[in-house]
Amino acid sequence: MSQAATRLYGLIGFPLGHSLSPRMHNAAFAHLKLNAEYRLFELKEEELAPFIGSVASRGIDGLNVTVPYKEKVVPLLASISPEARLIGAVNTIQVRDGQCHGFNTDGSGFLQHLQQDLGFVVGSARIALLGAGGAARAVAVFLAKAGPRKLSLYDVDIQKSQALARHLAEHFPRLDCQVVNRVADLGIKEADLVVNATPVGMKPADPLLVDPADLHPGLLVYDLIYNPPQTSLLAEARARGCRFAHGAGMLLYQGMSAFEIWTGRPAPKEVMRLALAAGLA
Ligand code: NAP
Repeated sequence: MSQAATRLYGLIGFPLGHSLSPRMHNAAFAHLKLNAEYRLFELKEEELAPFIGSVASRGIDGLNVTVPYKEKVVPLLASISPEARLIGAVNTIQVRDGQCHGFNTDGSGFLQHLQQDLGFVVGSARIALLGAGGAARAVAVFLAKAGPRKLSLYDVDIQKSQALARHLAEHFPRLDCQVVNRVADLGIKEADLVVNATPVGMKPADPLLVDPADLHPGLLVYDLIYNPPQTSLLAEARARGCRFAHGAGMLLYQGMSAFEIWTGRPAPKEVMRLALAAGLA
C-alpha cells in the first residue's frame, strides 16, 4: 500500500529568521496527526514569480506571505478573495488544482482577537491608528467594516495615510475618518483604542511615538508588534493603567484562519497559542 505524501506548507518572505509560524502550524499538524509540514522559504525578489509559478511542481499545498511580498504577490495569483482585494494584499495562498488562490487573514485575525479575546466593542469607539502600511490597511479595513464612531489615521508619510483614507471613504462612505499630520492630533486622550501598526518599537532604541500623558485608564493600547512582547509603548500603557495587548493574538488568529483554509479542519487554538507562547518565551 502506498503511503500518502506529506502535505507541504510554508512561509515566503525576506528575511524570515524570526518567524514563529513554523512552530505554530507544525504543532497543529502534530496535534491533529496530519501528515504535513510547514517550512520557511526565504526568497529574493527575483525569485518570487518563478517560485509562485512552480508551487505545484514543488508539491506545495499552501503558503503564508509576509513582508515584503504581500502586495507584490497579488498579480501572480489565479484568484483573490474579496477581503484580500479590499485590503490590496495577500497573506495566505491556497494551492488548488495547481493554481494559487489568495486570501488575507490579517485583518480578520486582528478583529477576532480584539472582539473575542479582548471583548472590545468597535461600534461606539474612537480609534487612533499609527501607520498606514500593509498591516495598517488590513486593520483599518476590518475596523471600518465594524463601524467605529471615529477612525483617525497618522503615518510618517502623510500621502500614505491620505491614500488609505480615500480607499476607506470609497468603500465605507459612512465612516468618520480623519487624517492628521501629527501624532498629537490623533486625539488619543479621548480615544478608546490606539493601534500601533508601525514597526516603531521593534528595536530597543526606538522612540515612543505617543505622548505618555495621553494614555488614560479607559484606553486599550494594541501594539501589532509581538516580538518583543513588551514594547516601550506597552510598558508605558501598563504604567498608566491602560488595558494593553501585543500582536501575538492577531498572529494566532490569522494563522488559525490560514490553517482552516488549507486543511478544511478547525484549527486547534490552544495548541497553536501555546506553541506561539513557547516561541516568544
Ligand atoms: P510596513 O508596510 O512597512 O508599514 C509600516 C508603516 O509605518 C509604513 O507606512 C511606515 O512609513 C510607517 N512608519 C514608519 N515609521 C513611522 C513613524 N515613526 N511614525 C509613523 N509611521 C511610521 O509594515 P507592515 O507590514 O504594515 O508592519 C507594521 C508592523 O506590524 C510591524 O511591526 C509588523 O511586525 C507588525 N505586524 C504584525 C502582525 C501580527 O500578526 N501581529 C501582522 C503584520 C504586521 P514608511 O514606509 O514611510 O517608513
